[in-house]
Amino acid sequence: MPEQLTRRQLLKALGFGGVGLTLASTGILGAAGVTNAAETASEMKPQEIAKRYWWVKNVDKPTTEIDWSTMKRFNEWETTRGSLAKYRGAEFDKEMNKLQKGNLLKFEKESVPGYTTKDMALKAAVEYGRPDFKFMGPQKALTPQERGVPRYEGTPEENARIVTAALRHMGAATVGFVELNTETTRKLIYGQEPAPSKKPIVFENIEVGYEDKDKLVIPEKARYAIVYSVQMSTETMKYGPTMLGSLTTALSYTRLYTIYSQLHEFVRSLGYSSYGATALNGFGIAPAFGVLAGLGELSRLNRIITPEYGPMVRLAVLTTDLPLTPTKPVNFGVMNFCKDCKTCAELCPSKALSMDRDPSWEIKGQWNNPGHRAYFEDSVKCRNYWNQCGTNCGICFSVCPYAVDDEASLHRIVKGTIASTTMFNSVLVAADRVTFPAQPEKPLKNPEDWWKDVNLAEMGIDTRRGGRNI
Ligand code: SF4
Ligand code: SF4
Repeated sequence: MPEQLTRRQLLKALGFGGVGLTLASTGILGAAGVTNAAETASEMKPQEIAKRYWWVKNVDKPTTEIDWSTMKRFNEWETTRGSLAKYRGAEFDKEMNKLQKGNLLKFEKESVPGYTTKDMALKAAVEYGRPDFKFMGPQKALTPQERGVPRYEGTPEENARIVTAALRHMGAATVGFVELNTETTRKLIYGQEPAPSKKPIVFENIEVGYEDKDKLVIPEKARYAIVYSVQMSTETMKYGPTMLGSLTTALSYTRLYTIYSQLHEFVRSLGYSSYGATALNGFGIAPAFGVLAGLGELSRLNRIITPEYGPMVRLAVLTTDLPLTPTKPVNFGVMNFCKDCKTCAELCPSKALSMDRDPSWEIKGQWNNPGHRAYFEDSVKCRNYWNQCGTNCGICFSVCPYAVDDEASLHRIVKGTIASTTMFNSVLVAADRVTFPAQPEKPLKNPEDWWKDVNLAEMGIDTRRGGRNI
């Protein structure tokens, strides 16, 4: 591969290495309304669940506009996960699935880097170990009653703190909470669970929820949603769209849902109930919960970008009757930056992502949930490309400037600048493009090199990342 400047070197060369100092001394940061770190930290303290970068501002409303009056509860099976054959036609669907199978076999036989037998083997391996999905969790842990003690009691703030601590220990990256409200946030719980059962998910005024052959029932009092993220490996994602890149999400889902079962058991063991997905991503619109809980902002990817890990996260959500103080949405400049940066959309091989400057209220297809202003994606085009490359692609994630670690590109000070002013967005986008010229449909790195590194980070992630150690 040709030798290239790192993003950090380039930013340094452009004079952004010391951007904070340079801009502050000219008074530009002050003019843009930037407060100093200490001031911001003390203002944020009451809402902070975990320590975050100073440039992450808590806000009352998310940067994604929402019209709750037009939003309805969406059915999971209406996404392209559940209705792809309906959206692209049964015959074409069959052909595309056949193409995928054929391509994967061909690539493996030809030992295409990233699709070799060892890549296939590792993908299969990291998918193993996911627990079964159960509406109320495994239900194995003894309850306080069964142990002969009273249930745990704490204030909503204390509860939020211990749930966060527990989740971090289980391997979650960031944690937030949303209170369900019938007119607003409750609409983000899917109306029906995934196919094939498509059972309605309903709320009833009862003590403890249940599942029967007709429906999943959540008690009204289980109105506290817990949403958490797990980090994905920025390293292996760079090998998208190959199988080696694809195991990034595979391993993340295994970790995400192992934690999910553990969380159910933790809540049960405290003496409370929890209710969640009966299939992968099958309970609520997790990115929307993530945005409302302040885990990040919605982006041109129509996925969340977090301050700590960029788009390199997977999210899960469940509800509980354990009272929890909600966390606030955040603004750190992503929505505005995406207006000027279209890197993901330009490098998307299927042109599935929006190239419009501004987000829109108009959905792209029935797989989108109306009622919010977003960069809606053509999910069918995306899925068609998945069939061609044989995997879930991931190029748009890997090329996003936020996807790299803090030391390498849009590092902390630059992210702080983006959070404060849009003035430098186009310069930063241009800098990133020069550093990483377009290589459509090719992984950013040679997958064979990954296998030569015997000093890889555990699970491909840096658990010290995210501003907790600064
Ligand atoms: S996953 Fe690939 S095809 Fe789908 S939107 Fe991203 S870059 Fe495009
Ligand atoms: S690549 Fe650019 S436009 Fe796309 S999500 Fe990332 S920052 Fe936004």
